[in-house]
Amino acid sequence: MTSNDFSSAHHTPRHDLESSPAATVSAGPGPGPAPADLLRRLRARGAGDPVTHVERVPARAGVPAPWPSWAPEELRATFTGRGVTAPWQHQAEAANLAYEGQHVVVATGTASGKSLAYQLPALATLLADPRATVLYLAPTKALAADQLRAVTALELEGVRPACYDGDTPRAEREWIRRHSRFVLTNPDMLHHGILPGHAQWSGFLRRLAYVVIDECHTYRGVFGSHVAHVLRRLRRQCARFGATPVFVLASATSGDPATAAGRLTGLPVTAVTEDASPRGGVTFALWEPPLLPPDTGSSLRVPPPGDDSAPPAPPQPTGDSASPAPSQPTGDHDELRQVRRSALRETADLLADTVAEGVRTLAFVRSRKGAEVVAANARRSLDDAVPGLGDRVAAYRGGYLREERRELERALLHGDLLGLASTNALELGVDLVGLDAVLICGYPGTRASLWQQAGRAGRSGQEALAVLVARDDPLDTYLVHHPEAIFGAPVEATVLDPANPYVLAPQLACAAVEAPLTPADLVLFGDGAKEAVDQLVAAGALRQRPTGWYWRHRERPEVDLRGEGGAPVCVVESSTGRLLGTVDGGSSHFLLHPGAVYLHQGVSYVVDDLDLADGCALVHAEEPDWSTHARDVTDLSVVSVRSYVDAGPVGMFLGEVDVTSQVVSYQRRRIATGEVIDTRPLDLPTRELRTVAVWFTLSPQSLTLAGVQPADVPGALHAAEHAAIGLLPLMATCDRWDIGGLSTAVHPDTEAPTVFVYDGHPGGAGFAERAYGTASAWLRATRDAIVECGCETGCPSCVQSPKCGNGNNPLSKPDAIRVLDVVLANLPQ
Ligand SMILES: [Zn+2]
Ligand SMILES: [Zn+2]
Repeated sequence: MTSNDFSSAHHTPRHDLESSPAATVSAGPGPGPAPADLLRRLRARGAGDPVTHVERVPARAGVPAPWPSWAPEELRATFTGRGVTAPWQHQAEAANLAYEGQHVVVATGTASGKSLAYQLPALATLLADPRATVLYLAPTKALAADQLRAVTALELEGVRPACYDGDTPRAEREWIRRHSRFVLTNPDMLHHGILPGHAQWSGFLRRLAYVVIDECHTYRGVFGSHVAHVLRRLRRQCARFGATPVFVLASATSGDPATAAGRLTGLPVTAVTEDASPRGGVTFALWEPPLLPPDTGSSLRVPPPGDDSAPPAPPQPTGDSASPAPSQPTGDHDELRQVRRSALRETADLLADTVAEGVRTLAFVRSRKGAEVVAANARRSLDDAVPGLGDRVAAYRGGYLREERRELERALLHGDLLGLASTNALELGVDLVGLDAVLICGYPGTRASLWQQAGRAGRSGQEALAVLVARDDPLDTYLVHHPEAIFGAPVEATVLDPANPYVLAPQLACAAVEAPLTPADLVLFGDGAKEAVDQLVAAGALRQRPTGWYWRHRERPEVDLRGEGGAPVCVVESSTGRLLGTVDGGSSHFLLHPGAVYLHQGVSYVVDDLDLADGCALVHAEEPDWSTHARDVTDLSVVSVRSYVDAGPVGMFLGEVDVTSQVVSYQRRRIATGEVIDTRPLDLPTRELRTVAVWFTLSPQSLTLAGVQPADVPGALHAAEHAAIGLLPLMATCDRWDIGGLSTAVHPDTEAPTVFVYDGHPGGAGFAERAYGTASAWLRATRDAIVECGCETGCPSCVQSPKCGNGNNPLSKPDAIRVLDVVLANLPQ
């Protein structure tokens, strides 16, 4: 997915890797067992069969296309000289569209060679027109640096590619502005440096032919909404200088990339989605850890029943604020009742088994701690079987030095090491490919990441094995029972909401500093721009004159594209005054309340005092044998309804809401057993969030008819809400922690049983809107995930939530299914 993925244009079968320079795969040891045989042995190991589906992803031959006739001979020769004999079909198609002047997004698999799709038209234009320029945007400096290396290596006369970012020495900046014709930067630099300095950039912008936006699926949520306006500001400056650049975007595969790219740029964008690059065959198994026998289940980490130190009866509406994970997320829901064998244990066993078979295996685990646990458990089982065999398994994490990591990779490639547990594909070296098996412990959140991880398996011409081990989570449960959601057409879309007033107003202020705003600009900035400008005028930030709206102050407004949830809170060790780290304002009440156990790089601290006025928490080092879990109460009121569907007894709504929440207490729980020691009150102020929500209502009669007793309505709605939040990432690239919910048997604003799901970001981030737009598919998946979970009364794989503000009480699994059936029966498809 990075920089130089021309290698995929070679006519040799390759896999979906992130970045694959040619000929990096070391020979390694001899071939392991065939994937199908290996899988048969793995699944025969336990009592039941944990495999819910096996997909044979066949090898795919690439479909080459002729070089576009407009591509100059010099450019073709350059690529051919680097082994690219011809572009793949999708590269040629996207390149042709862009060259014709259409805005295009190429949304294909990782390492399908997306860079060639934009390099061809961009470089052809630079060679044909000695004045033209190209601006390339990457989400990270590292990716821009990679791409710079790739373009520089082409050694094309007069292109003079250069990175322009925060690290660029002052002395070089002026040279780049004047002489580079291929500038590589990131949206932050465009926002903070290039656009405010547009006068110095006028020569470059006037001649701008192409804007390349790489990895554009990373511009999502609030950050994506900011970037959308930065791009509108760029278009406005270009237009002032008479330029209308063509936008070429590269995206991971996703649902509806044309719409997402259109929202990001504000332009009509054509999508190219048919991946014509070659790929090796993979046997892909979906693995659901078995349910534990009831008695073992209950002896493990069960909060005691009838916990009488719990706070007074759960407040009427049950709220699940869009707030951070309790303490430090470890990837495991330690505090919930365990009904299934954990994905970590299952992955550790699989790793031990594959290593015992002599199979070189990479296990991906979501958290660092999880990776350590998987490696340690696998080592222990192997040593029990054959003393010394455990030495052939290791953990790999970000904290290691680069040399240590490369050494581990080398050992795995050469077969000295057979098993490695790692957190993230992106931390691995690009040449760590060609393994015999990949284990993926928990769905990594998006299909793009899933394929990135699976793509580490498979030597050329050989089949490989990939196994996705489901975690205790409704989305994972759904996916292992719905392979079409993984192997069929993607449904998850990259969402953003440029109309968010909390993004739009500051961006309009930035635009006004760059040049006074005109009525035509309001059209460019889209829905809500007029209201935002009026508010800026009322607030004294803008002044209206006959020629437009003018910024009134000397200083530029301070706008951080990635800023979230208020000023960060500093964590300071009292005895030494040492700054340990910062926690974003939105999470501070949960993580840094007095008495909270705060983990920093594996060291445990206890918070003595949280000073919100100073934005500072004082802590001391201490390692108690309990963890802390903050609880909050949430209230929600409807501000306005944007859109609704009247479906008889069911109503579906999208609108603005005010969410008030207050962290009121915290539980201390024993780390070893999960037992609740006590619940202590807290005195923290309430916080307000105006955001966008989707909600549905049901008539009480329809619930009674469906067999939900009035006393069970709160538990039914609460359970449906949890699962619905868990499944939303199937439809939109968000995390369940980005979303909050609230359910109630009767809400004062709707006067009916209601489930709310809201964006946890001021002004909304597009998640609730996507949920509304895909309501029946989203709630159908939610219902299926609950029905297909094999547990009796509800578990973390279906209706329990690790972030519940009410301790997962009340919850009724069977009634949640009835609620969703009523909604689905009435809602138009
Ligand atoms: Zn369940
Ligand atoms: Zn809850």
